[in-house]
Amino acid sequence: SYDELKKCTSNFSESNEIGSGGYGKVYRGMLSVGQVVAIKRAQQGSMQGGIEFKTEIELLSRVHHKNLVGLVGFCFEQGEQMLVYEFMPNGTLRESLSGKSGIHLDWKRRLRIALGSARGLAYLHELANPPIIHRDVKSSNILLDENLTAKVADFGLSKLVSDSSKGHVSTQVKGTLGYLDPEYYMTQQLTEKSDVYSFGVVMLELVTAKQPIEKGKYVVREVRMVMNKNDEEHYGLTNMIDPSIRNTENLAGFGRFLELAMQCVEDSAADRPTMSELVKALETILQNDG
Ligand code: ADP
Repeated sequence: SYDELKKCTSNFSESNEIGSGGYGKVYRGMLSVGQVVAIKRAQQGSMQGGIEFKTEIELLSRVHHKNLVGLVGFCFEQGEQMLVYEFMPNGTLRESLSGKSGIHLDWKRRLRIALGSARGLAYLHELANPPIIHRDVKSSNILLDENLTAKVADFGLSKLVSDSSKGHVSTQVKGTLGYLDPEYYMTQQLTEKSDVYSFGVVMLELVTAKQPIEKGKYVVREVRMVMNKNDEEHYGLTNMIDPSIRNTENLAGFGRFLELAMQCVEDSAADRPTMSELVKALETILQNDG
């Protein structure tokens, strides 16, 4: 209820602040039923007329899937704008890959994280009504729950896509540098395939642990370059694999995974798989390799 929300969120302090993003600060809180939650609290004036906020609420209140971060509640009264989400105790995928969270993600776990987030996105694209394009798929928007199950978060940039506007959205280009679909950037024609591109970049992050742009270099281009070189130079690819999985682990399905990632980041959207095709392909990899 609103009263309960007000109570549990009334004592915001720096000690329970867990992060901040484009929207405002994020706090850890607890509902009286004992459920731990993450509360996104909008900075005053960060929302234009609250429209963005209401859009996010409407989207989230309709969407339920085990690979999407669930919205527990919300309030936008008395000048406060707050969204209350399930709390994800293991933070973001980006934090894990950069070694900040102290969680080692082995290769098998990375495959499962890829499959889980792909299922969440496939749901948004194909089963949500109307379809939802995320628009800001990135490793810092993939959260890990207590079982390290991947859940896709942050629909702040999503827009409802109705049939009439599908593919013809003419608003400004949004997204995060390094994850941005080059075709969308050029044409401003937004489709689900832009999420597929960004997701391909996340898959490359799972392989390399590198950020999409490091020291001015795009990982997509680096990987493409070493893959196009002849066999004896393939050690270049080995060098790009995250050292924490490179030597110690059986990288079953690695070749196929990399091939899929490279299909996702094809320059031309038509050459990329759909999210549900990707889900099927990832399921096959996981089945074949135990
Ligand atoms: P951005 O706008 O940059 O995507 P967010 O506002 O979504 O950032 O989140 C900022 C940070 O808060 C995240 O990087 C994460 O560490 C933390 N966070 C967000 N949502 C949750 C959640 N549901 N559970 C736990 N931590 C969260």
